[in-house]
Amino acid sequence: MRTLLALASDEPVLYGRLGCHRFGPDRGRPTLSLAAWCPWCKDRHAADVPEALAGRLDIAIPINAPCRVGAFAGRTIHLVIDPDHAAEARRTIRHHGQALRRFLVERRLRHQFAESRRHAREWDVLPTAGA
Ligand SMILES: [Zn+2]
Repeated sequence: MRTLLALASDEPVLYGRLGCHRFGPDRGRPTLSLAAWCPWCKDRHAADVPEALAGRLDIAIPINAPCRVGAFAGRTIHLVIDPDHAAEARRTIRHHGQALRRFLVERRLRHQFAESRRHAREWDVLPTAGA
């Protein structure tokens, strides 16, 4: 993964805005996405932000341009965060981080509860409420 500053000046970029969704393969897991308006398609092109890069504002996410016409057709383009929306991007990053931590804690608790139920069944006892 490269950054905006590392791109060559002739590599096409689309400036976009961050969002947060939960439709990924890991059901319910908050995922950052970056969506940008394409002037050729008159439509948005989007990609998920890898979790390891989720705190950065200078990401450049490469995608195969889905454009059928225009200067990007058949090329790799990079989605970058629009600097004019940096404040919004910081808020979205903070929201995503909180939602992701909450998701991971809840998932861990569900696993631990299922484990304790399994353990209790093996011993033919059930955990008492509030224990
Ligand atoms: Zn396009």
